[in-house]
Parts: sequence; C-alpha cells; structure tokens
Amino acid sequence: MSTYDKLRDYLDPNGVKLVAVSKTKPIAELNKLYDKGQRIFGENRVPELVDKWETMPKDIEWHMIGTLQKNKVKYIAPFISLIHSVDSLRLAKIIDKEALKSKRIIDVLLQVKIASEESKMGYVFNTLERDIAKIKSLPNINIRGVMGMGTFTDDTQVTTYEFSKLRKFYRILKEDHFDSPSSSFTEISMGMSGDYALAVENGSTMVRIGSLLFGSR
Ligand SMILES: *Cc1c(COP(=O)(O)O)cnc(C)c1O
Repeated sequence: MSTYDKLRDYLDPNGVKLVAVSKTKPIAELNKLYDKGQRIFGENRVPELVDKWETMPKDIEWHMIGTLQKNKVKYIAPFISLIHSVDSLRLAKIIDKEALKSKRIIDVLLQVKIASEESKMGYVFNTLERDIAKIKSLPNINIRGVMGMGTFTDDTQVTTYEFSKLRKFYRILKEDHFDSPSSSFTEISMGMSGDYALAVENGSTMVRIGSLLFGSR
C-alpha cells in the first residue's frame, strides 16, 4: 500500500482531513495524488499557489498555510478555500476587504504560537483574545478554528504539551466566542510529517503533510 493510502486509512476513520502540502513540487506530482482522490492541497507561496490553481482541476480546495504578505492577499482572494495563517488584526482586515471585492466570504484559521522557537509565527494567545471579537465582526471572514506548529524536535513530551496547549486555546475561544451549536468554529489544524500521529491523538481535525507524501524538499 502506498504512503498516501496508509495515511488516508489512518486519518479517514478519525474524521481528520488531509492537507497535502505540495509547496515546491511540480504539478505532475500533485496530479498523481489528485488521481488517487486527493482534493485538498496546501501551499505557502502566493505566485506558486496562483499558478497551480490556474493549471489544475477546479474541484481542488487550495489552502494557504504560510506567512501571508498583506499586499499579496488580493491574488488569492478570488479562489482560496482556507487561509491557515491569520496572525494579526491588520491581516484579517485586508482579507476581509479583498473577500468583499471578490464577493466571497473567506474561511480562515487563527495561527497561534505554541512552540517556544523564536522562528515560529503566530498569535500570542493573550493578543488573540484581545483581537478576536474584532476579527469575528469582519463580515467577509469566517473564522473556522485555529492552527499551530509544534517545535521541531524528537522529544514527544514537548510536542504533546504544545498540541494539548493548542487544543486548550481552541476550547477557550470556542466557549467564549463560538458556543452556538451551529458555529462553524470546528477546526484544529495541527500535525505535519513528523508529528501528525501525536497531533491526531491530541485532537487535530486537519493535518498538513508534505515530505511524507512528496519526499523531502
Ligand atoms: C511545509 C509545511 C508543512 C509540511 O511540512 P512537512 O514536514 O513536509 O510535512 C506543514 N505546515 C506548514 C505551515 C508548512 O510550512
């Protein structure tokens, strides 16, 4: 069985969505997974994302998973399915504005910093609590949940601690801001090639997997 099939066998019964992280990979590689039924692809560079969206079948959900520069939001606003990397009110406001221009409501995740590594991006939780009501009030954005990246480490205790922290943050936000049963605040995007199993054990609803599927970059 291929790695892809094994992954789907593990994730599907758990109701966990697979984002195939295809950054830097040629379209031929993406097409192979498309032919196996994969419909969610994640990219982190806007020009590459736009190029792949233009070329590939239109029933693909494209996810933006990387740092998003404010002046590039306009290029993805017409088609993006989910932006995982909202980490400031300013960025949220720009997505809202561009969504309106495209006559769309854009789904987003709030990226939270859970790793201690300086290089990892995302909202500090206190700042997010301060901003979330304002982001929620933006009419052309729909907040679907949170996203986080664990520390790059072999120490499973560290990773487990960080993932459980993200799940706790998710629960607090849900209770305080999205407690209606019909709320679409349902997603926790966590887990990559090296730590997806720990993420699923800790409540992930969506894993972002690149190198395990496509080989190293
Ligand atoms: C590249 C990337 C991934 C995938 O990483 P792999 O280790 O190749 O699975 C997941 N999430 C984000 C935000 C990324 O930039």
